Amino acid sequence: MLKANENYLKLRGSYLFSDIAKKVAAFTASNPDRSIIRLGIGDVTEPLTPTIIKALKDAVEEQGHHESFRGYTPDLGYDFLRRAISDNDYKARGCNIEPDEIFVSDGAKSDSGNVQEIFSSDVRVAVCDPVYPVYVDTNVMGGRAGVFDEAKEQWSNIIYMPCTAENGFTPEFPAEVPDLIYICSPNNPTGTAMKKDELQKWVDYANEHKSAIIFDAAYEAYISEEDVPHSIYECDGAETCAIEIHSFSKNAGFTGVRLGYTVVPKALKDVDGVSLNTLWARRHGTKFNGAPYIQQRAGEAVYSAEGQKEVKALVSYYMENARMIREGLKNAGYTVYGGVNAPYIWLKTPDNMTSWQFFDHLLEKAGIVGTPGSGFGPSGEGYFRLTAFGNHENTKAAVERFQTL
Ligand SMILES: *Cc1c(COP(=O)(O)O)cnc(C)c1O
Repeated sequence: MLKANENYLKLRGSYLFSDIAKKVAAFTASNPDRSIIRLGIGDVTEPLTPTIIKALKDAVEEQGHHESFRGYTPDLGYDFLRRAISDNDYKARGCNIEPDEIFVSDGAKSDSGNVQEIFSSDVRVAVCDPVYPVYVDTNVMGGRAGVFDEAKEQWSNIIYMPCTAENGFTPEFPAEVPDLIYICSPNNPTGTAMKKDELQKWVDYANEHKSAIIFDAAYEAYISEEDVPHSIYECDGAETCAIEIHSFSKNAGFTGVRLGYTVVPKALKDVDGVSLNTLWARRHGTKFNGAPYIQQRAGEAVYSAEGQKEVKALVSYYMENARMIREGLKNAGYTVYGGVNAPYIWLKTPDNMTSWQFFDHLLEKAGIVGTPGSGFGPSGEGYFRLTAFGNHENTKAAVERFQTL
């Protein structure tokens, strides 16, 4: 008899963004004249840059007319892109990551969700709390979550590592040693980033306990401080314990284009000496037929001199928004975090409001939509996320509204 996968049946609805949409729709229905500013978006708003648009168009012509680029693409990615990644994102930073340790994909969401498949269903998973929900839900799908504790708002078999103002939003070693540790830095949602010495401690911990770190570097391009690592492989020994995931979405605006990559070093082995690089290659080759040629040429163009200049300009544009929000809110008396190495500002809700109380307050009084921190995990309660992905004009207007709130 047909039975659905019982792990999938355990999944909890991700109601956060639909709850927000419902509240906003109700508000606009009863206040048709009020203008709404959305600072809840986790998506880019600026157009693709000229170098990328040209690379995409040229690649369409090439694929349309040249035999050598017809048909399936290599499942693990074209050499031209794997080499560009290895040279620019790694060797230029002193990290010895070779092209055959780089796996090109359609983006970081798929990779951060799929990577758990190459680990035993018995491994103990740890996540930061608040958390990017993909890490938790895909481990629920993989049968590693246990039962949901409604009071604690946690899965019984997943270790939640609180990241709050008290610990500087950096996870502390948990009481029980995890086998698989998810770290996202710079972080979504808190907008904070781990310093190199803090990340080095986690790399040493993982090597000592034969654990692995899944390092999500989706916001690497937003780093502005010297002592924040752009890659976990800047830490000594990371190639024996870390998998790193990258995206072209938040730096080059590829959210709708789709391209990313994952690094699985050849030196990373499980406790019995099994190569995880080989397993990921096997998984990729079986379930994925290669990222599109056109997108991979656009990805290559991101590393050109012009491409890099344009990416820097995009990042500066959003980071100017981040600066306006951070400074404006500080001046208005708010306690704010993030926004220096990431396009997210994480603020403490005033007057001990819950995250949702502040959401309603901000919408009703100022017409601003943000994201309640509690939607990212129990330690997000009492916090609120604003994003820098709007345009200057709206962001400026939002900050002015905050100041009169
Ligand atoms: C946006 C985001 C991603 C997803 O990136 P895609 O490459 O567009 O799939 C991955 N991780 C985090 C933390 C993100 O915020």
